[in-house]
Amino acid sequence: MRHRIAVVGGGPGGLTLARVLHRHGHPVTVLERDPAPDARPPGGTLDLHEGMGRLALEKAGLPAEFEALSRPEGQAMRILDPDGTVLRDWRPRPDERANPEIDRGHLRDLLLGPLDVQWGRGVARVVPGEGDGVRVHFEDGRQETFDLVVGADGAWSRTRPAVSPVTPHYTGVTAVETSLDDVDTRHPALARLVGDGSLAVYGVNRGLVAQRNSGGRVTVYAQFRAPLERHTGPDPAGTEAVRSSLLDLFDGWADPVLDLLRQGTAFVRRPLYVLPVDHTWTHVPGVTLLGDAAHLMPPLGAGANLAMLEGAELAEALAAGPADLDDTVRAFEERMWERAGRWAKITAAGLDRLVSADPAQAVALFDEVQPS
Ligand SMILES: Cc1cc2nc3c(=O)[nH]c(=O)nc-3n(C[C@H](O)[C@H](O)[C@H](O)COP(=O)(O)OP(=O)(O)OC[C@H]3O[C@@H](n4cnc5c(N)ncnc54)[C@H](O)[C@@H]3O)c2cc1C
Repeated sequence: MRHRIAVVGGGPGGLTLARVLHRHGHPVTVLERDPAPDARPPGGTLDLHEGMGRLALEKAGLPAEFEALSRPEGQAMRILDPDGTVLRDWRPRPDERANPEIDRGHLRDLLLGPLDVQWGRGVARVVPGEGDGVRVHFEDGRQETFDLVVGADGAWSRTRPAVSPVTPHYTGVTAVETSLDDVDTRHPALARLVGDGSLAVYGVNRGLVAQRNSGGRVTVYAQFRAPLERHTGPDPAGTEAVRSSLLDLFDGWADPVLDLLRQGTAFVRRPLYVLPVDHTWTHVPGVTLLGDAAHLMPPLGAGANLAMLEGAELAEALAAGPADLDDTVRAFEERMWERAGRWAKITAAGLDRLVSADPAQAVALFDEVQPS
């Protein structure tokens, strides 16, 4: 008999799990809180690494589709001093494919393909050993039972309490995100400044990163060390108040860099939270986690890649059958913990260097990881 599998969350991890199971002809129920795929802006761009997110897409049978949507030129990286001096200007060779970029919305649509996601199905809690399996309690009061529930529901997972009491803690760094549309026609000087990929400017305990997305859109992240303000999302202070506080924070930086903040539209506050680098749990039959729900880490290019690879690997292991379900999940968890633990340490150290009292650390980090 086929196991009844539910995945909570239709982000990169949950959708990859579902898509690979679907490829193997295994039924899966995807439960997503958002009422529709386009219910909120999909966010910026993701770089997918060879052997990680890209391997996951191969396992999903989608490498050619990814190739068509991805932007290898998006790997370009320019680093400036706050006074505007160019410190690094790296452009990928035409055949460089280590970390091509893809818009989050394009990746989501690619993974969604034929999947029949249940939209508007927010999960309130997951209770193992209730009824004849694991009981999923929905936010609207309804319930359903499955043999395996995979929590791919991100940082504030409602599945996680079924296996672990641990909750994310604040890193001390907050990012404020804004964006500019139609840069090539409306802001040509900024379009040239950002180039085809990313622009990064590092100062003392603060930094500003601008990334080109497709369709002439640029996403800008201002990052700085600050005490935690619990509020996340669009700032209630209003766009102009946030703009002016950011311009104060980055006062003295080169004018073209500050123009990225002057021209940005809405501002969204994202305090950066993480789970402990060694987060694991005692295996609970019928429930597991993957992606940010299992190992939330600073946004340094690993989170989506790990979530997708984990989704693909778990799906392949489940589809391979006929091993005992819990043996399969246990083996998956061991592998995930080992790999994610390594990345959690790397990205925690990376954040300390990118938003640090010594901005030279950020440039040194780039030199260490840049493809030759
Ligand atoms: C600014 C920024 C830039 C980043 N850049 C990169 C990058 O370049 N490369 C990279 O690899 N990573 C990057 N990351 C990290 C990456 O975004 C995350 O690690 C990744 O999205 C995690 O995927 P996930 O599927 O685990 O969770 P999520 O993407 O968080 O998806 C979770 C899904 O679950 C749904 N959900 C939540 N709660 C419930 C519930 N109770 N019931 C039902 N559904 C629910 C949500 O609506 C969402 O659709 C970046 C992160 C940020 C913030």
